[in-house]
Amino acid sequence: NPTDLRLMTTNIFSRLENIAQDRGVTLKVKPDDLHEVWVKADADRIEQVMLNLIENAIKYGNEGGKVIVHFTEGKKYIEIAVRDNGPGIPHEHLNRIFERFYRVDKSRSKEIGGTGLGLAIVKHILNAHNTKIAVMSKPDKGTTFSFKLEKAYTSAANDFNEAEAIPHVNS
Ligand code: ATP
Ligand code: MG
Repeated sequence: NPTDLRLMTTNIFSRLENIAQDRGVTLKVKPDDLHEVWVKADADRIEQVMLNLIENAIKYGNEGGKVIVHFTEGKKYIEIAVRDNGPGIPHEHLNRIFERFYRVDKSRSKEIGGTGLGLAIVKHILNAHNTKIAVMSKPDKGTTFSFKLEKAYTSAANDFNEAEAIPHVNS
């Protein structure tokens, strides 16, 4: 079912506005002239994915930092990337963060609060959408989580051309 990720992101940003403000974190969508991003997805489940990734980026990124949700349009897929400029995730933890209850810095994570289930759920939901989550992280540079979803529509230009190419004959 067609879902607009651009609108979903705006809604999530306003839900997380308070915790972002507390940490002085700026929330952004890129490209910034993007109005709609339609994908085939279970909206409620993908909202859980986006919410956890954005919330993580705010909680574990730097105070006064930036969180960017970046959309890239391919032919058949949209790539969604959630990026922060925080401390990053140490290499040796990278493939374990998707395990249930796994949290990187026990003391710091405890202070922040959470169960360690978020990324396990993210992985599970994306699996059910026949796609997977990727993570890239550099110490002191930040972390990017990304995944792809199938586009719901081809571009408006294509739709237009197709309509033009098939003459309607009423008999
Ligand atoms: P929950 O999501 O259940 O409230 P949580 O956020 O601790 O709890 P996950 O979302 O699964 O659980 O994240 C697991 C751990 O991965 C976090 O505790 C944190 O240590 C680390 N982590 C997740 N995202 C980031 C990030 N953007 N930058 C740095 N560390 C991160
Ligand atoms: Mg989380």
